[in-house]
Amino acid sequence: MIELFNFKIIIVCVAFFIIVLFENILPKEIIKFKKKIKRTLKNLFFWSLNIGLTPILILPITITATSLNLHDYFIIKNIVIQFLFHLIIYDIFLYFWHRANHEIPFLWRFHHVHHLDETLDVSSGIRFHFGEVILSTIVRCVIIVMFNISLLNLILIEAIVLISSAFHHSNIKLPSKFEEVLSFIIVTPSIHWVHHHKRKKETDANYCAIFSFWDYIFRTKSNFKRYKGMPIGVEGDQEQSLIKLISRPLK
Ligand SMILES: [Zn+2]
Repeated sequence: MIELFNFKIIIVCVAFFIIVLFENILPKEIIKFKKKIKRTLKNLFFWSLNIGLTPILILPITITATSLNLHDYFIIKNIVIQFLFHLIIYDIFLYFWHRANHEIPFLWRFHHVHHLDETLDVSSGIRFHFGEVILSTIVRCVIIVMFNISLLNLILIEAIVLISSAFHHSNIKLPSKFEEVLSFIIVTPSIHWVHHHKRKKETDANYCAIFSFWDYIFRTKSNFKRYKGMPIGVEGDQEQSLIKLISRPLK
């Protein structure tokens, strides 16, 4: 099992490195160096808190959920088809969980910390309040148990989710035709940056995590087109200091 976790860490780190490299070589938005450093440190702090939670809370809960095997429904013998089935199920769960984070005021208290970031890059994809991470870890147990998702599949899916999050939050300037075609299948920066638009109408749309078609199917796709210099953040609110962000859900 340790090898599996190490494999995930290596894959995710390599992907993050490549995405960071590209967003610095080919940036869509020019972010001032001082602002970039300040934001990156703040976002890395949130990540380090969540990494700290992993061995003491997230892993024990996840391992317990994946080892319960309470029933033998949804068992698919072909491991590739089984993995794809779990990937689809998990991605639908992420869509509805993300949507719930916007539509249920108690969950928005935590999730809006992620949205208060007023510029986006790879580091925004790891900026989540630990309250949101703990809640999502508990809620996703329902899906794990319901569909008997194995620890192996969950680790692989989580690696895809992390890489996808880094990619669609990134500041990479992709060739527009290429991004247009890609966005029919997966969530690209142009789709997810609209979700981070400061206007609430746009923030409450484009909820997909990996595949982009759920927003079309569940009618939450925004028709707004991303443009350079677009305002990012939360309508009627603004970025806060690190201390205020940590205590923000209690406000
Ligand atoms: Zn959101």
